[in-house]
Amino acid sequence: MILVCGGAGYIGSHMCRLLRQKGIPHVALDNLERGHEEALPGTPLLRADLRDPAALESIFAEHAFTTVMHFAAYIEVGESTKNPAGFWENNVHAVWNLLEAMRRHGLNQFVFSSTAAVYGEPERVPIPEDHPKNPTSPYGNTKLTVERMLGDYSDTYGLRSVCLRYFNACGSDPDGILGEAHDPETHLIPRVLLAAAGRGEVKVFGEDYNTPDGTCIRDYVHVCDLADAHLLAIRHLEGGGATDQYNLGSGTGFSVRQVIDAAKEVTGIDFPIGTAPRRAGDPARLIADSTKARTELGWNPLYTDVRTCVQHAWDWMLSHPNGYKS
Ligand code: UDP
Repeated sequence: MILVCGGAGYIGSHMCRLLRQKGIPHVALDNLERGHEEALPGTPLLRADLRDPAALESIFAEHAFTTVMHFAAYIEVGESTKNPAGFWENNVHAVWNLLEAMRRHGLNQFVFSSTAAVYGEPERVPIPEDHPKNPTSPYGNTKLTVERMLGDYSDTYGLRSVCLRYFNACGSDPDGILGEAHDPETHLIPRVLLAAAGRGEVKVFGEDYNTPDGTCIRDYVHVCDLADAHLLAIRHLEGGGATDQYNLGSGTGFSVRQVIDAAKEVTGIDFPIGTAPRRAGDPARLIADSTKARTELGWNPLYTDVRTCVQHAWDWMLSHPNGYKS
């Protein structure tokens, strides 16, 4: 039985979908602060908060888990600069609670959602896993801290883990049942698509970067490809694999302007675009070197063209104009 913490969120719900498709027993744990119960059709939900050790203890006493997955973090870089205390509590302390519950119950397999933000401003792209790590935000600091905590728990307690460092997660399941539903929405692709739907203006944050069209380049990775990598990480741990870290990206960079052009092509709508100064802490280029995930885990991402990601996100937006409230 797999425990999916944060299973009602964007990436966690796509993970639960994959586990359902594969017939793998699992339960989701979510406090529904930001997740959506509707994102879990067919997956049992335990409503609890990882910041509550007593609730965790009773859940671990009642279920025989084999592997624990963690998707239950706060993710907005900007929010993390305004509320670092909340980020350290939820993204670090709550994970410590979870690891301690695992230790008490003799569990030793953990899959963790990490991020390209652990690298900070890259010295070179594409970025391999051994690139220096200098996060530039409280969000990145919390994720790197958990990676280090997991290294210590592995060395001393034999609690093995896989950290998956996502670049820019995007898209939605091609069946159109699940999608991205953040409130407020800050991510580029959904914001661009909201603008295409006539629901607000999107602004390009900075056009003076040292890139071919002056806008930031990112590596967009489809959420279903992320879920596939997590399943491979579970297999790695089940096969006795060691604690390790892997980058997850398509390996191709697309600029903000290219994403906007893709959205105009996919939607067939020519919507106005605003401009704004650079957003603090945004590196010009973030591109993953995911060779290690491909060669060691056997990861083979299917949706490496940003247009497909935009298409799936647009299909979801058309069928769910108000997200899960539709
Ligand atoms: N971006 C933008 N306008 C927006 C949102 C994002 O120009 O309304 C840019 C942002 O500066 C970055 C890229 O789009 O270069 C991706 O940003 P997002 O917030 O989606 O993900 P992040 O890279 O911060 O994880």
